[in-house]
Amino acid sequence: MVGYTVLANRFRPRSFGEVVGQPDVARVLHSAIRDGRAGHAFLFSGPRGVGKTSMARILAKAFNCHEAEAGDPCGECNVCQAIDGSGDCLDVVEIDGASHNKVENVRDLIENLRFRPVESRYRIYIVDEVHMLSTAAFNALLKTLEEPPDHAKFILATTEPLKVPETIRSRCQMFDFRRLTAEVITDRLAHICTIDEVEVPAGLLERVARHANGGMRDALTLLDQLITFGEGTPVVEDFERLTGRLPPELLEAIVRSALVGRVDEIVRAAGDALGRGARPADLVAQLTELVESVLVTCAGGEAADRTPEEQVLLGKLATESSVDHMLAMLDVLVEASERLRRRHDGRLVVEMSLITLARLKHLQPVADLLAGEPEQSPQPARAPSGGRGQRSASRPTSAPSPPSGSTPPKAQKKMEADAWGQPQPSQQVPSKQPADSKASPAKPADFRSRFLEALPSRSLRLELTRYDGISVSDGCLVMSMPADGPSPLHDPSSDSALRDQLAEVASGVEGRKLSFRLLGAEKQQARPPARPGTPPAGEIGKSIEEQWPGAERVDF
Ligand SMILES: [Zn+2]
Repeated sequence: MVGYTVLANRFRPRSFGEVVGQPDVARVLHSAIRDGRAGHAFLFSGPRGVGKTSMARILAKAFNCHEAEAGDPCGECNVCQAIDGSGDCLDVVEIDGASHNKVENVRDLIENLRFRPVESRYRIYIVDEVHMLSTAAFNALLKTLEEPPDHAKFILATTEPLKVPETIRSRCQMFDFRRLTAEVITDRLAHICTIDEVEVPAGLLERVARHANGGMRDALTLLDQLITFGEGTPVVEDFERLTGRLPPELLEAIVRSALVGRVDEIVRAAGDALGRGARPADLVAQLTELVESVLVTCAGGEAADRTPEEQVLLGKLATESSVDHMLAMLDVLVEASERLRRRHDGRLVVEMSLITLARLKHLQPVADLLAGEPEQSPQPARAPSGGRGQRSASRPTSAPSPPSGSTPPKAQKKMEADAWGQPQPSQQVPSKQPADSKASPAKPADFRSRFLEALPSRSLRLELTRYDGISVSDGCLVMSMPADGPSPLHDPSSDSALRDQLAEVASGVEGRKLSFRLLGAEKQQARPPARPGTPPAGEIGKSIEEQWPGAERVDF
């Protein structure tokens, strides 16, 4: 049985004409060779897997081929064969800069340069990851680059051109390799699948291409794996398992739930995503990608690397949102990915962030607040601020009236505002004050406002606006259970770092050491989630004390 050659090697371009996705570099190098204008040192820079090494080999063949015509290597002569085959050509030396980064390695190389080439015109050195060379090694190389022998050519390649000293760069002809578009990669993959008679489900190659993020080699490697896993026929499930990619429908559902402010749906979708084995960071990264594309579409642009069908979907999502809403969502997601780097309990971060996303819908624009719009505005809340396609008209204009009865007016108001899944009256952090604290001119800024204001991050502030009961009592920061459902803070599995952080912020606000106390936490698990959009009338009528008998009532 013949040994299997991976696709990335088998379909490596072997001439300037075969190069995919770097037309400018190929054209300039080709004409430089053809017209005899090629220099003696080249620096290829660009992300990994976009064709730098392939291009270096093609260039080496073009320099040394015995039968080259008009700058094109023949691909047939012994030199071309040696470079293409095993890379084992006496006059073309490939060096990995990462593992040969010492000054001695460069000295050996220079020493060898004294000998003339064995079978071709030039001795050619291809140095990969050249930025990894030590300073001394660069200095040694510099001397040779300044006055190279006529028979020497250097092709340096790097993913980080700025780490290559300016003195080296200035002596090279520089070529910048770009990431390939998903379309170019998809076309190439489809071409290869046709040649190899591999059947691929619709849409899978596009997803592979986008996951490769502009790198052809990564795309080919992934396709290779999928063909192996599927025993000749790649399947979507393997792709999702190997890459942590989520189905587009699921991501779309999460964004839609956020757009219409459905906390319950978004929590369920997040559970579904994590249940499929996606890491919290994968989920946040893919949501960020989608929201970014919607943002670009909202702003009148066209999201990069999306198929026509996806563009249609993005267009729909864009008409249901606005630039400001998308910016606010991105803000939350970017912060979530920051936090994920620092914390172990990724699930907590994801849930807090997604709940925050769903609540953005209900926030009142700061501009309206500053303009003095009434706190409990009868108009429907808008997303952070206007934009095209606001769906404000579809929102009910007020929460349903609770049954009249024995409910204390203050508790009743809270329940009305925070009922599960109900659109809430417009509110933004500083505005959500109990009416009585506003009425008292003696307390211009109460503890809750100052505490929320002092929180270090915006999304944390948004999340904590759900907690009406935030006060100081007996040397403790006391927070009571929010009325509108599950709270990550009440999750017993969450670690105590967040609670400690909150106590610290509160201590700073009060100017004295406070510890943290949570009320109603023990009821968190027992409480069945209410159905969205249909707050049980009985619950609305209940006072907070009735709902959490163990909870201590805290007035502020
Ligand atoms: Zn040749």
